[in-house]
Amino acid sequence: MLAFLRRLANAFELGVCWSCGYSQVAAGSLCPYCEEALPRWYPRCCQHLSDIEPYLSEGQKRCRYWYGALRWEPQVQQLMALFKFRNKAELAPLLANQLAAHLRLCYQHQALPDCVVAVPMTQQAWRKRGFHQTALLAQHLSVTLELPYIVGGLRKIRSVPMQHMASQSSRWENSRRSQLALHDYSGCTVAVVDDVLSTGATMMAAADALYKKGAKAVDAWAVVYNQHD
Ligand SMILES: [Zn+2]
Repeated sequence: MLAFLRRLANAFELGVCWSCGYSQVAAGSLCPYCEEALPRWYPRCCQHLSDIEPYLSEGQKRCRYWYGALRWEPQVQQLMALFKFRNKAELAPLLANQLAAHLRLCYQHQALPDCVVAVPMTQQAWRKRGFHQTALLAQHLSVTLELPYIVGGLRKIRSVPMQHMASQSSRWENSRRSQLALHDYSGCTVAVVDDVLSTGATMMAAADALYKKGAKAVDAWAVVYNQHD
């Protein structure tokens, strides 16, 4: 009977650790061992992203802070693959909580931004995936950190070719002017939420759009920061 119930729980992914499959955990969470083992970044700004300087155009403002919570290592890659490519939207709270814990440490000596927006996706990508993964993350973060979430605060106006196929300079070229801010952000410090931060090109496109609508500062927040060595 117990084995049957466990199989049933596994079939519906109730009480199964997302990382190791250990079944004695609350639904939608990691077991204590996997939680402990998650590869985390030290809570500080991703300084290396200063190498975006060569790609900034004249007068272009950069993001104020760049924060990423988890390292791009196999355990995290597995979770992100489930979330993004196997449509496990239920992972959003777990991933957002990792980022929220990281951000609480990053902002312990200063005020949090005024509002949160999500990196936009194209209508086509949204239809294909069935959910808006960065919007889910941003919604959970806004509740956890008690910040307003601006629904549809950014819109994708041009699709960008597959980023991993492109060289770094063409990634920047492809991303520029790919996003549009739909609200007035005058005087606001805005946090932009993404799932994976890699070159920073997507975040800078978001920042560009937000600065054009009056944002005072833009902070980049990502669940995962994938550092390129
Ligand atoms: Zn586990």
